[in-house]
Amino acid sequence: MNQERILVVEDELKIAELHRDYLEQSGFQVSILERGDEVVSRIKKEPADLILLDLMLPGKSGEEVYRKLRTFSNIPTNMVTAKTEEIDRLLGLELGADDYICKPFSPSEVVARVKAVLRRSCATFNEGPWLTGGPIRLNPENPGSICGAATRQPHSQRVWPALSHDEKTGEGLQPVRTSEHCAGI
Ligand code: CA
Repeated sequence: MNQERILVVEDELKIAELHRDYLEQSGFQVSILERGDEVVSRIKKEPADLILLDLMLPGKSGEEVYRKLRTFSNIPTNMVTAKTEEIDRLLGLELGADDYICKPFSPSEVVARVKAVLRRSCATFNEGPWLTGGPIRLNPENPGSICGAATRQPHSQRVWPALSHDEKTGEGLQPVRTSEHCAGI
């Protein structure tokens, strides 16, 4: 069973709970946030492996939240909108979200698309050299890309500077190419 952590940002609680129930049945750990302006501080404190991000949110729109997230994180993001026209507009902006889901949707479709985005993000991560130190794996050419087990470390954001330092000295880290942490998604 995988234990990737999904943050569901959705102000309609019934929809959020539906996402949570289906994702949990697929083995994900799920947290729910109802406000856009709480997402960035939550992610800095408690990293997730993917965000399911509704566009219309109280506090801060999904679009604003996404732009802010991208200033410090490459966390895979599925944007959820209520209008197909919104998807066209967002694609036109080349916002760069990993996937766009339009309401209404079937919960099982959402689970399938979450898995697809996680698979893609792992595949991207596997390109180029990897560094590994204990349970942490990262791509030195793309420090924001931390895959699988690494993002489940509660202090992964604090671990990264230490790994940067080790990268320079070469101590305790070895370049590897592997997809083992992507198995089971
Ligand atoms: Ca909403």
